[in-house]
Amino acid sequence: MRRDRLTPLGPSSTYAGVKINGVKGMNDVLPARVAPWQEMERVAREVFALYGYREVRTPSVEQYALFARGVGEMTDIVNKEMYVFEDKGEEMLALRPEGTAGAVRAFIEHGCHVEGPQKWFYLGPMFRRERPQKGRYRQFHQIGCEVFGVAEPACDAEQIAMLDDYLARLGVRAEVKLNSVGDAACRPAYLDDLRTWLGARRAALCPDCNERIDRNPLRVLDCKVESCQPVLREAPRLVDRLCEPCRAHFEAVKGMLGDLGVTFEVDPRLVRGLDYYVRTAYEFASGALGAQSAVAGGGRYDGLVETLGGPPTPGIGFALGQERLALIMEALGRKAPVERPAVFFIAADEAGAREAMRRAAALRKAGIACDLDPRGGKLKGQFRQAERAGARFALVLGGDEVASGRARLKDMETREESPVALDELAARLTGGR
Ligand code: ATP
Ligand code: MG
Repeated sequence: MRRDRLTPLGPSSTYAGVKINGVKGMNDVLPARVAPWQEMERVAREVFALYGYREVRTPSVEQYALFARGVGEMTDIVNKEMYVFEDKGEEMLALRPEGTAGAVRAFIEHGCHVEGPQKWFYLGPMFRRERPQKGRYRQFHQIGCEVFGVAEPACDAEQIAMLDDYLARLGVRAEVKLNSVGDAACRPAYLDDLRTWLGARRAALCPDCNERIDRNPLRVLDCKVESCQPVLREAPRLVDRLCEPCRAHFEAVKGMLGDLGVTFEVDPRLVRGLDYYVRTAYEFASGALGAQSAVAGGGRYDGLVETLGGPPTPGIGFALGQERLALIMEALGRKAPVERPAVFFIAADEAGAREAMRRAAALRKAGIACDLDPRGGKLKGQFRQAERAGARFALVLGGDEVASGRARLKDMETREESPVALDELAARLTGGR
């Protein structure tokens, strides 16, 4: 590797220092846009707890081998998109491209199966070296849920209904798409037939499809290229070829979703990008997103724990893209509440500035948000800061106010002023009087 590529020197700015930009496809969320992020995380913790899920935190870096085995070396994620590096010649590591493999590793490593079925959720950054575009980034964030140890369809239905409930609480309506991708009993024969069927139509399919026909034929069904659609619409469907246990499972999930009042659509071409899925596959999509319409995807992975060296343990999970959810929330014009200072202290002189510091500290300890401009200066400039901060009231403090213990509270919206005793400020601000 060339040394100069390790020390990127961006174009120098008009200031004396050298400006270094962020990494392509990795975004900042500035305070002005963080509100939907905080809301989606707060509501996730609240809703998932109602359904008995508990938070797990795993590292952002894992052994490369975990993803190679757990996600599959044939998948685009591992094959093309993963950030892999050798850690000082000792071992091959990777930035996690998704959360399930790490959760499963932790489940096995800590012997969690002895405690019976487990419901876990996580949130955090994931990394995939994809071509950045709207809704697709190289560092992105997921909120995900996993259930370990339950094979019954009730578990699938409950999880899908929970995600539906979660989005509804955020005011987001998404289409629920459902499919069954079969299992080791019924999928292999179908895949052989599908490969032959697609192989006979290579000329009508795009280069990506052609490449996938041998490697991962199920993924061909997922192709979004317009010219492939007429062919793919006619492709044989796995839902018509499910073995009896898979069919019964699928019917049960559909029935229970009906009981729970979740509207869904069966999409026979819905597949998951990862090799380890069996039976239930689902996706939540929103028209507000454009091309990258999937806000969340999930499915059952009954063989995964065993594949990664654990005891046979069924599982099902989903992951939701936080950037995409933020885009939907912004498109809906959902304004999450921001904490605004109840009062902004304005210092008229030195004595007022010291008193403002003391009063602000006391209010904050009492749980009341307030602020001041430590630079002091002209009253006009301080009032401008009060406005920028969105303060409800401003209060001017100078030597006179400190001496008398009384000041005037100015309503920043109506511009009206009213007298207040400084010792009664907290009570006034909390609506006491
Ligand atoms: P897509 O088909 O959009 O590439 P995927 O099948 O690769 O999605 P999953 O691995 O199932 O996606 O991840 C679940 C969710 O994570 C997606 O539905 C999406 O909301 C989000 N997601 C996946 N990749 C990215 C990315 N590169 N940037 C932003 N969000 C992403
Ligand atoms: Mg992808």
